[in-house]
Amino acid sequence: MEKNYSVHILHISAEAYPVAKVGGLADVAGALPKYLNIEGHDAKLVLPMHRTRYLNTHEWEVVHKGVTNMGDHYFEYTVIRESSGTLGYELYLVDIFGLLDREGIYGYEDDAYRFLAFQLSVVDWMSNWSYRPDVVHVHDHHTALIPFILQYCYRYGHLQKIPTILTIHNAQYQGWMNWNMATLLPPYDLWKRGMLEWEGQINPLACGIKCASRVTTVSWSYLEELKYNSNGLESLIQQEIAKCSGVLNGIDAMVWNPASDQYLKQSYNADKVTEGKAAAKRELCDVFGLDSNKPLFIFIGRLVADKAADLLPSIVGESFYHLGRKMSFLFLGSGDPQIEAQLNAMNVYAEQDYSCYIGYNEGLSHQLYAGADFLLMPSRVEPCGLNQMYALRYGTVPLVRKTGGLKDTIKDQGEEGGYGFLFEHASVPDVIHAISRALELYEDKDALHRCRKQMMNLDFSWQHSVRNYLYLYHSVQKS
Ligand code: ADP
Repeated sequence: MEKNYSVHILHISAEAYPVAKVGGLADVAGALPKYLNIEGHDAKLVLPMHRTRYLNTHEWEVVHKGVTNMGDHYFEYTVIRESSGTLGYELYLVDIFGLLDREGIYGYEDDAYRFLAFQLSVVDWMSNWSYRPDVVHVHDHHTALIPFILQYCYRYGHLQKIPTILTIHNAQYQGWMNWNMATLLPPYDLWKRGMLEWEGQINPLACGIKCASRVTTVSWSYLEELKYNSNGLESLIQQEIAKCSGVLNGIDAMVWNPASDQYLKQSYNADKVTEGKAAAKRELCDVFGLDSNKPLFIFIGRLVADKAADLLPSIVGESFYHLGRKMSFLFLGSGDPQIEAQLNAMNVYAEQDYSCYIGYNEGLSHQLYAGADFLLMPSRVEPCGLNQMYALRYGTVPLVRKTGGLKDTIKDQGEEGGYGFLFEHASVPDVIHAISRALELYEDKDALHRCRKQMMNLDFSWQHSVRNYLYLYHSVQKS
């Protein structure tokens, strides 16, 4: 058994809910420190100071001002701390004039430069800070150079021994940089130059995988998949497999709870699931002009190929054609402008059975999980996937492709104790087949009720995952 002493963990991420959110990384980075602290540890979180609403609606105090450099360019950075402490962990934001003072989180031409400046500032601040974490935990490529900087930049030799964990939330994005960016790093051990490189470029994610003490992926199956399909990193993952492990994400059961959800007019628990969901569905259908008597299928997420969002228009058309207009669809998302335009254009043909909301809307996503009968997730790539776990918690039956974290969290209805529908391929026929199975379940009210209650009683909370991370934190301190 592990000795139960308190671990000091510094999380560093590009986004975290409720401060700044684009996707699942934010949900994880915003919840994991809180649940580590609930277990009696000391976890803090550092983010860039994006200009989001949260920044303007909370109180802050300046805790550090420093100067560091990227090559010849010297710049000031400021670290502020959230004053109220209501998040359940200490939250620090790093500001750099001209680089991090923007509304968006990603998508700028100089993202590589911005996130390098952020990482250098964080390490520079750490080197001046009286606090020494036992472990530094970085997330995805935006912070994946930190293990290299800590270990091999001479200037930070006094931080060299701090163990690091890299969590890969999505290996598709690796943060590739031109070699000329290497001159922006503080002087480092040139013998270790190869640590920065993958296939002729600086590859921050690959560098993180090489340099971190341990690497985790956000589900077991995703780690298996990465060995054979990781956007060019396959052989690296295979080489480093001994230090890699899968830790399934949890969900923040305090935020995602239909019994106390601030976005729902009528709260409900497993005992009141039928009434609660019916009320939420009526509400939604009124707003979007849908017929609430039909089973409602939703999709929530980034409208990108990884999520197979390009299939959505055909899924609607082919379902109506093959199965009849027996169901409604409601989609919430943003991303590829072509997919957005197609989804919007389909409104013309809707007969109270289709609608979409193009954009990002946190409150609406809660209302959809509550009001829907079924959630579609045909993802081509799904490292963990949180939507299906939120759906379970709100009694919404997920229809998911057998991949990554979806495979690890959903058990097909056809199996003993199963809940949800799994299908093999990200293809329209596979989805239509799953929809036809879902329609059968919808007709059997007793079975549907049992399934909803069963799903709502499943536990995907952080407690399990926190235990796994703690095991890792303890193990890296010993090694
Ligand atoms: P990814 O991180 O790959 O986008 P995840 O399933 O891990 O996917 O997490 C997605 C998170 O983002 C969920 O909390 C989901 O509800 C939320 N989300 C995605 N798109 C939207 C949107 N348009 N509006 C509101 N929430 C969204």
